[in-house]
Amino acid sequence: MTAAVVVGGGFYGAMIAVHLRARGLADVRLLEAGSFLMHGASFVNQARVHGGYHYLRSFTTAYRSRANYARFLARFGEAVVGFQAVYALARRNSKATPRQMERLCADIGAPLEPAPPQIAGLFDERLIARAYLAEEAAFDAGRLARIAEQALTEAGVAITLGAEVTGVEADREGVRLAVRSGERERPLDAGVVFNCTYSGLQRIAGGAPLGLKHELTELALVRPPSEFEGLGVTVMDGPFFSCMPFPAHGLHSLSHVRYTPHMSWTEAGERDPYAVLDAYPKASRVDRMLRDAARYAPVLARSEVVESLFTVKTVLTRNEGDDGRPILFERHPSGRLFSILGGKIDNVFDVLERLDQEELPA
Ligand SMILES: Cc1cc2nc3c(=O)[nH]c(=O)nc-3n(C[C@H](O)[C@H](O)[C@H](O)COP(=O)(O)OP(=O)(O)OC[C@H]3O[C@@H](n4cnc5c(N)ncnc54)[C@H](O)[C@@H]3O)c2cc1C
Repeated sequence: MTAAVVVGGGFYGAMIAVHLRARGLADVRLLEAGSFLMHGASFVNQARVHGGYHYLRSFTTAYRSRANYARFLARFGEAVVGFQAVYALARRNSKATPRQMERLCADIGAPLEPAPPQIAGLFDERLIARAYLAEEAAFDAGRLARIAEQALTEAGVAITLGAEVTGVEADREGVRLAVRSGERERPLDAGVVFNCTYSGLQRIAGGAPLGLKHELTELALVRPPSEFEGLGVTVMDGPFFSCMPFPAHGLHSLSHVRYTPHMSWTEAGERDPYAVLDAYPKASRVDRMLRDAARYAPVLARSEVVESLFTVKTVLTRNEGDDGRPILFERHPSGRLFSILGGKIDNVFDVLERLDQEELPA
C-alpha cells in the first residue's frame, strides 16, 4: 500500500505532494492523467499574482491575497514577472465606486495611487471614472511548472503520468483507487488520498456534493499596441475586461467578464467537465472582447490577435455573489480522502497551513 497518493499534477497537487514529504511521509505518489504536469488550469489562467485589488466585494479574499502576495513573491520569485498594474473603475454598471476601492486598499495595505496623465489618457473619460496605479505581478506559468517539477524531484515524490483515476472507494482502513493507464485499469491502494483534480474534483470526492460551478472559458492571447507594453489593465467591477501580461508566451491575455465564460453549469456529477471541454467547438469570441475593451481603452483596437486558450474554470457556487476565492478543503468521513480546491494560485499557502492542522492516518 502506498502511504499517500495525490491525484492531479497541477500546481496544487505538486505542492501538496512536496509538503507531505516534508511532513515525513515516506512514500508519496503523484498521479496525473495528462502526459505532463501543470498543463491544466495552472497553465491556462490569467497569470495574475493577486494583490487584493480584484476582490472589492470580498474583504476576506482581498485581505488574504495581500498577505499571500508577499509570500508568493518570496517563495516563487523566479517565476514572477513585474509589470505596471493599472486598475480603472467604470462610471456605469460598476458594482463598486472609487471611494470603495480606495477604502479597501487602505484597509488591506495595498498601495494605490492615481494614474499619471499619460496612463489615465489611455481611457475614454466618459466611461472610466478613475484610473489607479497598483502593485501587482504576473507569473510565468512555464517557469512555475519548472520550479514545481524541481521541488518534486528534490522531495523524492514518485510521479506517474498518463494515469487517470476513474473511481475511488474509501473506508477507515484505506482508499482503493481505480487507475486507468491507456487500455489498462488497475487498483491502487493508499493510506491517504489527496484529490487535487480541479474541475474533476466531484468525480472522485467519494460522493459528497462539493458545491462546484464550472465555466468553459476562453482566454485570448494578443499582442497589444506599444502603449500597453509593460502594462496590465483591469476595469472593475462588473461586465468589463482585463488585458495583462501572459509571460509564458510573451503576449498579453485578454479576458472579458461577459465573453470569456462561454457556458457554465453547476456540478451534479453527471457531466465530466473535461469531456465537455474536449467536445466543445471552441469558436472564439475575441472580436467581441476586443470591440468592447476598445470602447474603454481605444488603443486596444490596434491589438493583434494571436490565439485563444480554452479551459474549464471551477469555482464554488457559494461565492457567486461576492466573487470571493476561499479554499475548499473537504475531508471525507473515512478520514482518508481529501478534496482540495485552491481557487487561485497564491492560496497555496492557506491550503498548506490548513493541511498542517490535520492529523493524517498512520
Ligand atoms: C481562466 C482562468 C483564469 C484564472 N486566473 C487566475 C489568476 O490570474 N491568478 C490566480 O491566482 N489564479 C487564477 N486562476 C485559478 C488558478 O488557475 C487555479 O486555482 C489553479 O491553477 C488550480 O490548480 P490545480 O492544481 O488545482 O488545478 P490544475 O492545474 O487544473 O490541475 C489539476 C490536474 O488534475 C489532473 N486530473 C484531473 N482529473 C484527473 C483524474 N481523474 N486523474 C488524474 N489526474 C486528473 C488534470 O489533468 C490537471 O493536470 C484562473 C483559472 C482559470 C481557469
